[in-house]
Amino acid sequence: MSLYIGLDIGGTKFMVAAADAAGRELARVREDTPADLREGLELLHAMIARVAGGAPIAGIGGGFVVDGRLYRGASGAHPEIGHQAVPMRCAHPERVVCECGASDCLEALASGNGIHRVYGKPAEELNGGEWAEVAYHLGQALRNLATIYAPGVITLGGGVAVGGGERLLGGIRATLAAHARLVPLPDVRQSILGYDTALRGAISIAIDGLEPQISQMNAD
Ligand SMILES: [Zn+2]
Repeated sequence: MSLYIGLDIGGTKFMVAAADAAGRELARVREDTPADLREGLELLHAMIARVAGGAPIAGIGGGFVVDGRLYRGASGAHPEIGHQAVPMRCAHPERVVCECGASDCLEALASGNGIHRVYGKPAEELNGGEWAEVAYHLGQALRNLATIYAPGVITLGGGVAVGGGERLLGGIRATLAAHARLVPLPDVRQSILGYDTALRGAISIAIDGLEPQISQMNAD
């Protein structure tokens, strides 16, 4: 039986899970994120080997799902919504530097790592005004997505969304209501999967995403 592997590569933690073809989780490991890139890659390989337990691995990847299908960009690239530019309302704009090199990415403003860099503390220690800034930046990013895709519902998962809770969601909804035009406002909710959202999403994309490639290969 081939396994499907989901990776959640976060700024503070790595989570790796193995699932069967029905999406049932079989094993999971979690480690702190190393500062060094090479050390991080070696750790990921070791974690994958641990959850796979010697079984063959069917496919690893991340992606963007539109109408239930995995969307791929040119040459197998995929959209990077964390690296979209968002209008800033930040008390420390000089500290906003994304790991990709740009100075106005959503990820630099609203990810766990970005928040630590900008505010000098983890998300769970932000005060009300700082949460309002994070909510404004996420709200502007979701406004971009709502304007381009007009989704009915946007669900947010991961550590920042779980930690921010309603004070984050309320600020996001207010930003969307104030700035989005011409499209219906999406219902913004917290994912019921919480911290596991990225991991479970990665596994389901790994399972679903393989099918078109396999049919394509057969057709050829
Ligand atoms: Zn970036």
